[in-house]
Amino acid sequence: MDSEASKLNQKADKLDAKGKSGADVLRADAKNLSAGAAALRDTSSAAPVANLVADKDWSTVHPGGSPGSQAFTPDSHTIYFRNGDKGVFGDHASASPQWEIGHESIHVATGQRDQIGPNGFPAYKYGNPAMVESFKSLIGTPAGANNPDNLMGLVYGNN
Ligand SMILES: [Zn+2]
Repeated sequence: MDSEASKLNQKADKLDAKGKSGADVLRADAKNLSAGAAALRDTSSAAPVANLVADKDWSTVHPGGSPGSQAFTPDSHTIYFRNGDKGVFGDHASASPQWEIGHESIHVATGQRDQIGPNGFPAYKYGNPAMVESFKSLIGTPAGANNPDNLMGLVYGNN
């Protein structure tokens, strides 16, 4: 995430040097990726805490969450990961553990929620077709710079 942030900042500098637009979005991407990475490295007493939650307790910590949800960040101090039948990250896990951990780190570090695309659906790379369409529509946009899955797409690939 830090390495991608560094590359994005370099690209932004090149765009500025050429007098081209688009640097703002790249710098926002970089800022949020760096914030997530910093949260993952944080070992201070104020650091966010990742909790492993048993499957039977998932609906208690994430009321109203979709059945396939695997992780949830309710505030800037707390991340929950679901320990399902196949273990943590084992159920419904199209996304890699790195993707899921990075995604939640963006939530906890920036306070941004999953962004809603123009079609009215939250933008998830690994969601239902409408969510995937939403995700694709936010690639390279200011809203995408605040969307955890779009930021993970910059690091791990959009396809
Ligand atoms: Zn999310």
